[in-house]
Amino acid sequence: MSAASLPGQPQVHYRGNELFVEDVRLADVAREHGTPLFVYSKASMLAALGAYQRGFAGRKAKICYAMKANSSLAVLQVFARAGCGFDIVSGGELERVLAAGGKGEDIIFSGVGKTRAEMRRALEIGIRCFNVESESELEVLSAVAQELGKRAPVSLRVNPDVDPKTHPYISTGLKGNKFGIAHKDAVRAYRRAAELPGLKVVGIDCHIGSQITFMSPYLDAMDRVLDLVESVEKAGIALEHIDFGGGLGINYSGEQPPDAGVLWQQLLTKLDARGYGQRQLMIEPGRSLVGNAGLCLAEVLYLKPGEQKNFCIIDAAMNDLPRPAMYEAFHAIVPVTRTTVAPATFDVVGPVCESGDWIGRDRKLAVEPGEYLAVLSAGAYCMSMASNYNTRGRAAEVLVDGSQVHLVREREDAQVQMRGERLLP
Ligand SMILES: *Cc1c(COP(=O)(O)O)cnc(C)c1O
Repeated sequence: MSAASLPGQPQVHYRGNELFVEDVRLADVAREHGTPLFVYSKASMLAALGAYQRGFAGRKAKICYAMKANSSLAVLQVFARAGCGFDIVSGGELERVLAAGGKGEDIIFSGVGKTRAEMRRALEIGIRCFNVESESELEVLSAVAQELGKRAPVSLRVNPDVDPKTHPYISTGLKGNKFGIAHKDAVRAYRRAAELPGLKVVGIDCHIGSQITFMSPYLDAMDRVLDLVESVEKAGIALEHIDFGGGLGINYSGEQPPDAGVLWQQLLTKLDARGYGQRQLMIEPGRSLVGNAGLCLAEVLYLKPGEQKNFCIIDAAMNDLPRPAMYEAFHAIVPVTRTTVAPATFDVVGPVCESGDWIGRDRKLAVEPGEYLAVLSAGAYCMSMASNYNTRGRAAEVLVDGSQVHLVREREDAQVQMRGERLLP
């Protein structure tokens, strides 16, 4: 595989036969820190953010990183220092933002199932906005805010009923989804929000899905949301901000999603044409900021020839890289050191005792046991979804910055995993 054909990974390249991230040779990092190991490129994260910033140049826009994509503290720090806000979906994520140096006013809180305790904590911190997803949540949030003598800033997540043309598990803006308030119910919900004493209506938001690689669903969703802004404001309820969610896809295997800057220039043209270009705008990108900034290094443990298939068994598994098992997702897999071994076709699998534990199917690889592989595009929805299944410790993480390598998460050992458990008397 040539350097040019590594999908969507500007900071990942071969020098000679050796794979590098920025100026760091990955074989050295794997030897020093062990595998499985997540490696993130700071330059790549900042470049992804830069595309959005260019798209919004001259506008009142806040980019809130949807941190469920990768909630490691060092990743949050990179974005906090670059001026990002954060879109959170739990009280745990809120604590992570604070630990990474983010502020309450930079936080928006999404999700269909916020608990009273999470609401209370977020109100105490003084977050910027709750993205509310149902009328019953409005009632509870108002009550919790009143108990604290506060008014909760709210935006309603509306469901534009637009097909994002992505995997059904990651499409969220259709009628049959659990997310958001139906388009037809939105004005009624806004009227209720405006009446409730513990709430202050500040905005509207939507999020139609993830790994979206076309522009048209965004253009359609924008039209539907702006129609609602019109109706809500006609009903006498002012909306300070409009939040268009996240969802932009990345190149895993040759997909060609629009560049974030180009996408937003198009969307802003539409916003301007409809007279909303000067509003406070917000977006919540996750995957597109981190997905191609990370990869996972693994060691080849065994090659196991079979009658129907050859297996390449590596030391990373579905607990580290859950996307193939969950969504049949594709990650490119490349050697860390290119060799002259004859290539063969393998299913790349992990050690977990599940047939669903596969990382890549029918991959042509020239590898031998003891060598390292890099599973690419692993910056988003990998470590943040990692588990301890099979009592496997979660992987270590390093962040590369030029020629520097920072260990940003230690490998979990069995003691750490058992902490908090109690033996019977
Ligand atoms: C997950 C999520 C996002 C981010 O989605 P990406 O596809 O990672 O960009 C944004 N907003 C909400 C409400 C989400 O749930």
